[in-house]
Amino acid sequence: MRNTLSRRRLLSLFGATAGLSALKVDARAAPDTPWDLLVVGGGNAGLPAAIFAAERGARVLIVEAAGQIGGTLWLSSGQMSAAGTKLQAAKGIEDSPQSHYDDIMRISKGTADPQIMRLAVFNAAETFDWLMDNGFDVRDEHPITGTTHEPYSHARYAWGKDGGRSILRVLNEQLQPHIDAGRVSVLTSTEVTALVQSEDGTVTGVVTRDATGSTRLHSARNTLLTCGGYASNAEMFEQLEGARDYADVSYPFSQGVGITLSVAAGGYVRGGEHHLPLFGGTLASDAYPAPMIGSARPWPPERPPWEIYVNVRGERFLREDIASHDAHEQALLAQPDERCWVVFDEEIFSRAPQLVRGSFSGGWTQEDVRFAFDDGMNMFFKADSIEELAAAAQIDRDGLLATIADYNRGRADGQDRFGREHLPLPIAKAPFYAIQLQSWLLSTYAGVAVDDTLRVIRKDGSAIGNLYAAGELLGAGQFMGRSYCGGMLVTPALTFGRLLGQEFLELA
Ligand SMILES: Cc1cc2nc3c(=O)[nH]c(=O)nc-3n(C[C@H](O)[C@H](O)[C@H](O)COP(=O)(O)OP(=O)(O)OC[C@H]3O[C@@H](n4cnc5c(N)ncnc54)[C@H](O)[C@@H]3O)c2cc1C
Repeated sequence: MRNTLSRRRLLSLFGATAGLSALKVDARAAPDTPWDLLVVGGGNAGLPAAIFAAERGARVLIVEAAGQIGGTLWLSSGQMSAAGTKLQAAKGIEDSPQSHYDDIMRISKGTADPQIMRLAVFNAAETFDWLMDNGFDVRDEHPITGTTHEPYSHARYAWGKDGGRSILRVLNEQLQPHIDAGRVSVLTSTEVTALVQSEDGTVTGVVTRDATGSTRLHSARNTLLTCGGYASNAEMFEQLEGARDYADVSYPFSQGVGITLSVAAGGYVRGGEHHLPLFGGTLASDAYPAPMIGSARPWPPERPPWEIYVNVRGERFLREDIASHDAHEQALLAQPDERCWVVFDEEIFSRAPQLVRGSFSGGWTQEDVRFAFDDGMNMFFKADSIEELAAAAQIDRDGLLATIADYNRGRADGQDRFGREHLPLPIAKAPFYAIQLQSWLLSTYAGVAVDDTLRVIRKDGSAIGNLYAAGELLGAGQFMGRSYCGGMLVTPALTFGRLLGQEFLELA
């Protein structure tokens, strides 16, 4: 685990799950009889794989490092995207997987993996319908085109009333009968530490270590790695994405163990070059990775900018009112340390709609923001002059002075340097304010290479016998290239789990 805060956060999370029916777990692992399927990680992708494999009569063992199954669904907003669903049809929305595919290629500028992404979007509707048929409780106004990422051309973006937990509730209900019938066993607080391979590299089982430190061998005819990404492993993050992991916002068990296991077994990793940060994180400190305490990431059509964004040189780098999350993210990527400051004055602070929100929604009032400045909270800077503001925030003084003068001039002339049209007020009246905004990520871009039936492959394209992978372990870069496309981690994870259990795994 990366730090004690993550542990604490995890415990408090699990303490707050009273609404979710607990799974009755019967762990009857039999080391001498190979399991038909051994699932490493009982999260978003692993649970549907177990459910659908069990429906085919398979004996399944789920090995889960955390104290409970569910994985990132405990934290995730659970936003899904699927085209051609029954829900869309019921609401008169005409859509198709091809349109979904084309949208992702448009948003990612052709950088998503055509084969993997196609497999995900052309099978997404069936997954979404299955969840709905089994009680998935979607927000009334959904599906929508989306506002937290680049909008889709059609309303195909939907999420549960209780975020990822709405999905987990359905998965738990579908899994429980298989546990009761003895088809599925679950070992929690047990981590897989190694894969066992025969001479020709075929995977024949795994080694586990439980909370007491005991190790054990489990044989299996099929091993499926669904143990998530590496967003809580700062070292691996830097190694694979060539960037720093600044924000501590991910699932603490996302340690990248699946990457290590796959590579040790002969697989390889791809996609880290697609690294793209999210915009507008307010972190608790600069002791990275630091908890995220708020965000300033407004959607310009809903809350046009009154402020400017500057980098450490004091330069603007973006047309702030552009209606594109992607433009914000790509521009941030090019800034030193993926960092910027949002700068404004007293007049703007008093008259503009609230800018800072909680990490994902709500949580902050305008009074909280004012208190943060007055109290000298980390990342919140207030000063009587621009020179003093620059010194406090450690932004280049001359750069900031020149930029504010240039912005005010461009605003007065109606000739903004970046073509910005929303220019309600100059930055002129003391006190002056700056909030340091840092990049953040929820998930990770690099992942294990697989073929079109999700078998882990070597660099020469050959498959490692009996070893499969799905979920974030494949890397966000496969599903959305260097971009963010709404729902394109949760939905593919569930879909690939379903496809593996239903079709791809050789269970007979
Ligand atoms: C806060 C947050 C919000 C998000 N919101 C969205 C969203 O709205 N839409 C979207 O598409 N994506 C979203 N994502 C990303 C998405 O939720 C994840 O990519 C996805 O859920 C990952 O699914 P998974 O099955 O690959 O991994 P997980 O669901 O994380 O499951 C992996 C499981 O493996 C276990 N594990 C790890 N190591 C081991 C080991 N050695 N042995 C045994 N078990 C192990 C873990 O404990 C975990 O239970 C969000 C992510 C976060 C953190």
